Amino acid sequence: MLSLHTSPLIQPGAGDSGGMNVYVRELGSALAQAGLDCTTFTRRTSAAQPEVVQVEPGHRVVHVTAGSYDLPKERLDEVLTEFGDRVAEHLRGDHPADVLHANYFLSGLVAHRLKHELDLPFVSTFHTLAKVKAEGGDPESEWRHRAEQEIIGCADAICVSCTEEENLFRRLYGDPKGRMEVVAPGVEHAFFAPGDRRGARVALDLPLDVPVVLFVGRIQPLKSPDVAVRALAELRHPDALLLVVGGASGGDGDAEVAHLHALVAELGVQGQVRFVPPQPHHILSSYYRAADAVIVPSRSESFGLVALEAAACGVPVVAAGVGGLLTLVDHGETGYLVPDRDPAVFAHYLREIIDNPTHAKALGERGAARAARYTWAFAAARLRRLYADLGVRERVLCG
Ligand code: UDP
Repeated sequence: MLSLHTSPLIQPGAGDSGGMNVYVRELGSALAQAGLDCTTFTRRTSAAQPEVVQVEPGHRVVHVTAGSYDLPKERLDEVLTEFGDRVAEHLRGDHPADVLHANYFLSGLVAHRLKHELDLPFVSTFHTLAKVKAEGGDPESEWRHRAEQEIIGCADAICVSCTEEENLFRRLYGDPKGRMEVVAPGVEHAFFAPGDRRGARVALDLPLDVPVVLFVGRIQPLKSPDVAVRALAELRHPDALLLVVGGASGGDGDAEVAHLHALVAELGVQGQVRFVPPQPHHILSSYYRAADAVIVPSRSESFGLVALEAAACGVPVVAAGVGGLLTLVDHGETGYLVPDRDPAVFAHYLREIIDNPTHAKALGERGAARAARYTWAFAAARLRRLYADLGVRERVLCG
């Protein structure tokens, strides 16, 4: 596995760490448990990181030195060659591989090169795509657009997380001719399962008798935490609480945090919004269980692990009708989808949930039943078969 720009070992929910980190970490474990040997190469970002971390038997993370530790994400293009050289040394030495699986386009560019040098099949999971982000109002550089085209021309398989993402990919990038694989991410059901709301609120020191709405994610415009705050204000429920769990992310992250605090003050909901720093992944289950509803107002979302984790905990989700959220949320059955991200419409559906506990319980139960289909073991089994197929299939001729 290549995960150049962010490590599966770091705390998700802030900076460049989110769903992709959870995906790489959980898949590495699930692949190892399925009998594969999985090494993830990531860029070293501190002197304290050991070269090799054995996460569990059959699953290790290798920190590769390439460029200064504090190099910002926008400048990682400068170290792709160095990172690729170091990974190639490992692959020729202690950690030979049968297949390269690149996560995000930066790793994809490295895999594109190593595929040819080492004669290995190459799987790409983009996680986010420049054209999808651009459609959601977050334009990316021309260089990234070109890089993605190169990767698409070279990858032996392109993994997407759901049919929504597949359709979006085909519409924006064309038909990759038999190379597209739908590999749905999973959720760790040992942590994310329905539980006692009261107990969770006591554990988190939250009031027992007020509606609690939860937002979980990196604070950046793409995730639209401002829509969550506006929806809370539109609820016009003076006791309702909004928990915002996560930290600043990306170039606009700090500005977004400042904007959010200003918005809270402007809308006069200071007493109703609590900002919570990023939480260890498994601890989040208590936050989900404590909530009446989880709000996911993202501008675009290739999958949306937060929506899946909430559902697995039996909590209704009110989400923007974009990307993978269209697959994860069954409108009126497990939660609600809001087509145009209108805060008043979010508030309307939140009210439906808050004011109708029996209905909310039914939404949550159906959500948990649907979420049970998604496991990391299943994702690993699909990938295992794909990797085996690629070993015997003719390679894609780049271009
Ligand atoms: N997450 C976490 N702690 C936090 C906030 C988020 O572990 O404080 C995790 C969350 O559980 C989820 C991931 O970060 O697994 C976010 O994934 P998602 O697909 O929702 O968004 P992305 O970050 O990929 O845009």
